[in-house]
Amino acid sequence: MRIDVLTLFPDMCEGVFGTSILGKAREKGIASLNTVNFRDFSGNKHNSVDDTPYGGGGGMVLKPDPIFAAVEHVLAQSNAGGEQGDTDTENTEAVKPRIILMCPQGRTYNQQIAEELAQEQHLIFICGHYEGYDERIREHLVTDELSIGDYVLTGGELPALTVIDSVVRLQPGALGNETSAISDSFSTGLLEYPHYTRPAEFRGWKVPDMLLSGHHANIEVWRREQALQRTLERRPDLLETAELTVKDKQTLKRLQEQASLKKNEL
Ligand code: SAM
Repeated sequence: MRIDVLTLFPDMCEGVFGTSILGKAREKGIASLNTVNFRDFSGNKHNSVDDTPYGGGGGMVLKPDPIFAAVEHVLAQSNAGGEQGDTDTENTEAVKPRIILMCPQGRTYNQQIAEELAQEQHLIFICGHYEGYDERIREHLVTDELSIGDYVLTGGELPALTVIDSVVRLQPGALGNETSAISDSFSTGLLEYPHYTRPAEFRGWKVPDMLLSGHHANIEVWRREQALQRTLERRPDLLETAELTVKDKQTLKRLQEQASLKKNEL
């Protein structure tokens, strides 16, 4: 997978790209992670990439020309089989990248979108700053607009890095333990079951007996029930779309009955 981030602050991204799972994925050649400073494509002697909005009002607007030129540069490089970072990727047939604009007005990001993007071979992220983008970038350049939630950040770097982290960790070989991404919250449609590690007793708080039993089949059943219970308590909305077996539905019914009994006792 190749990922290019168009940004005015490449250092913000480079730090993350060199660290932990992303750093290892980059080292192992699982993901080629590149930054492109679109100021380098300003095309003017002042290197300016923004201008005042037509019609007046506050804030500066990112101009279309540097961003179009930076994307076109990345596309030409990718079609030629070149990389900015790693150089060991083979020159395969032309790939149609997803060109993703980070903006609070986009589709709200979630694990399903992460799984969808993880199938792609090339992602290009555009990170905004200031008041916003010239609308022609939105209309004529990008394939997707993504928001990481209903709040406004200063720039698109942290949102893009959030998306990139969640996509790269889904690449085969990126995580040490391949099963850990499968049971993660949202991947199964549910929140994940609780985890415990040594010591078996800490300040009088014990690890559930089931986890010490060594009976793997029963542990799986316990974990599924815990995941259902946690989701029911914290995110019941997820249960509307989660894939549930007949047994899950029976367990949920029992958990709901137990919860309403408890409520009545109070
Ligand atoms: N004026 C814009 C609006 O109201 O939609 C907000 C611009 S924001 C200050 C600057 C940049 O930060 C955006 O262009 C975008 O790249 C990024 N950004 C801020 N919040 C974001 C979010 N929730 N999701 C994705 N990107 C975001």
